[in-house]
Amino acid sequence: MGNSDDGRLGFERETLAQRVVFAPGGAAERVGEEVRRLGSRVLLVAAPSEADLAARLTADLGPGAEVVATFDGVRPHVPVPVAEEVRALATEAGADVVLSVGGGSTTGTAKAVALTAHLPVLAVPTTYAGSEVTPVWGLTEHGRKTTGVDPVVLPRTVVYDADLTATLPVPLSVSSGLNALAHAVDAFWGPRVDPVDAALATEAIRALAAGLCAVVADPDDRAARDRCLYGAYLSAVAFASAGSGLHHKICHVLGGAHDLPHADTHAVVLPHVLAFNAPAAPEAARRIAEALDAPEAVAGLVDLRLELGAPTALRALGMAEADIPADAEAVVEATPPSNPRPVHLADAVRLLTDAWSGTDPRGEIG
Ligand code: NAD
Repeated sequence: MGNSDDGRLGFERETLAQRVVFAPGGAAERVGEEVRRLGSRVLLVAAPSEADLAARLTADLGPGAEVVATFDGVRPHVPVPVAEEVRALATEAGADVVLSVGGGSTTGTAKAVALTAHLPVLAVPTTYAGSEVTPVWGLTEHGRKTTGVDPVVLPRTVVYDADLTATLPVPLSVSSGLNALAHAVDAFWGPRVDPVDAALATEAIRALAAGLCAVVADPDDRAARDRCLYGAYLSAVAFASAGSGLHHKICHVLGGAHDLPHADTHAVVLPHVLAFNAPAAPEAARRIAEALDAPEAVAGLVDLRLELGAPTALRALGMAEADIPADAEAVVEATPPSNPRPVHLADAVRLLTDAWSGTDPRGEIG
């Protein structure tokens, strides 16, 4: 985490330039003002399920600003034909700013426009995915997802309003929230992790754990939704800085090969990665445990997952056991050198087998 052996604290860090507005209950008032800082001819990107919400947010964009085109063909993982369609629409309509209203798939669609047309993006997230604070884009072609990093896709402005997440059903809130928690946990052993990331990740875990438990108890608790969104933001900032760790590499392998549901896959795999890495990363484990208000990190995460009623087995998500050996090889190949423990083929097979069958990760430590 930037601590050298002599205990001194040295690190390098790039802070990403982005305007972030937290406006609980106030997105409709803020979106127009924020759009006008960036442009006037708006390409709106929103899936059909978020169409009404997006219509409310864009009903009055203020002097000189208007929606000149709307794209609702959002698909998970941004297939290339979708990217081509939305880019053509942006050009045809003469858009000068892209407004995305939705989850990570919608933000990803807006990023696809930014990547080639270099238009600024204003993101209004409605899940806890966190894509809005990263410069990472993703496109899928012939079943293969390609990702890349380009500062041009980082949304210039994000407007967060937890009221927009109030319609997320509890199971989706939980899996999306655990996806955010995975950003925070994985940041501890990301390739570029620094002490600022660790501090952000610790606070993110604290906010997400408390917020998610309160949302499950009362899905209409807006203050709890605020905490979840705040935690999701912090965790994504930490993750964007630290880079993908072992957990995200595993989920990328599984998601790409078997088209598993993104957020649920994170919820299942995370405690197994934590159980594997914790013995070799005692400081990270201590901070994670502290943030979860638990005596030990893995037990704390398992208890949280239980309390939230989150999925626990890859087999229940539709993955076949026969795929484990090939996936394990891909995981070994993708493991970042920054991981606190080397991952041998037998380790990867064991980790995936445990996650597939849903064994209790507390028995796997060591
Ligand atoms: P998603 O955007 O696919 O949304 C999941 C479902 O929830 C959709 O059916 C959507 O219509 C619905 N939904 C969204 N908001 C809602 C709301 N408020 N109420 C009710 N329903 C709502 O899923 P996601 O988990 O938000 O995002 C996953 C995608 O984001 C993946 O493709 C992932 O790779 C990507 N992602 C990218 C990054 C990055 O840095 N580039 C980071 C995180 C996630």
